[in-house]
Amino acid sequence: MIIEMMKGATQEQVDHVVERAHSFGFEVQLNLGTEKTVVAILGSDTGKADTDAFAVLPGVQSVARVMKPYKLASREFHPRASKVNVSGVEIGGQRIVVMAGPCAVESEKQLTDTAKAVQKLGAAVVRGGAFKPRTSPFSFQGLEHDALDMLARVKSDLGIPVITEVVDIQNIGIVAEHADIIQVGARNMQNFALLKELSKIKHPILLKRGLSATVTEWLTAADYLLARGNRRIILCERGIRTFEDSVRFSVDISSIAVIKKMSHLPVLVDPSHAAGHFAYVPSIARAAVAAGADGLLVEVHPNPEEALVDGLQSLTLKNFEKLMAELRPVAQAVGRYI
Ligand code: PEP
Ligand code: MN
Repeated sequence: MIIEMMKGATQEQVDHVVERAHSFGFEVQLNLGTEKTVVAILGSDTGKADTDAFAVLPGVQSVARVMKPYKLASREFHPRASKVNVSGVEIGGQRIVVMAGPCAVESEKQLTDTAKAVQKLGAAVVRGGAFKPRTSPFSFQGLEHDALDMLARVKSDLGIPVITEVVDIQNIGIVAEHADIIQVGARNMQNFALLKELSKIKHPILLKRGLSATVTEWLTAADYLLARGNRRIILCERGIRTFEDSVRFSVDISSIAVIKKMSHLPVLVDPSHAAGHFAYVPSIARAAVAAGADGLLVEVHPNPEEALVDGLQSLTLKNFEKLMAELRPVAQAVGRYI
């Protein structure tokens, strides 16, 4: 941390800052300028004290962090890219991992038909929501435990891993029993109580970016999941809130490059929730693969007109087939395959 003292700060005020730094166990370097004093706080674990602990002291003008607030998710901590293995599917390797399926599990037939089709077309993982975090309490909330049973049947009958979202602490156990990957939705990215509980299990976890979260906040949330030794964390960019309202959310394509630079974790893109409309999904998906995403999370429904959730942004099986064909040369152009 770099602490800039006010012009005219007294020696006593500078000493007070230095004493406070020492009380946290930090080393200090003083830079006595002609106009003002700058105090550099040195120590690898400056996370022990936040900037406010110094900003509040008399005579302090400003406090700036040098280190990022996240550590375990950073490239500095773990220079080599992490690969997450899920029942034989490697996420973060050469293969672009496509996870596809309905927004919500609506019936055994709807899920099985979709799963069989997307598997045949090259999807590596089947998605399907059992517990749906809906904006309105009056909207369809998901088939919950019945949906988990259906997902488990797809997994055992088709031999394909499944991903589903957990929305509360009490269902972590049951979701982990039925799913190969546990999804943390955008609305729960900073549900720290949930993240802490999830850090105790060994399951792969897909952490979606919050609607209004910065990349730094997202990676700091990932640190919660990594804190107890679960290394199998996957990130997912799904669009953020901006002033633009022609799409549901604005997909932050640059976040892929930023994540790749700042973090070792694999990153997927969800073009469906970003777009909010099936017509925009292929373009975002191609852009994501070209930009270096490790995979995609795509909503597919055999009959979007009848979908209980997110029908407008769901691809038909035909459209999914077309998308997969379009993605192959893009993946190849960036040295990957699907
Ligand atoms: C989902 O993938 O089903 C979902 C609800 O997405 P998000 O959390 O990104 O809104
Ligand atoms: Mn959805």
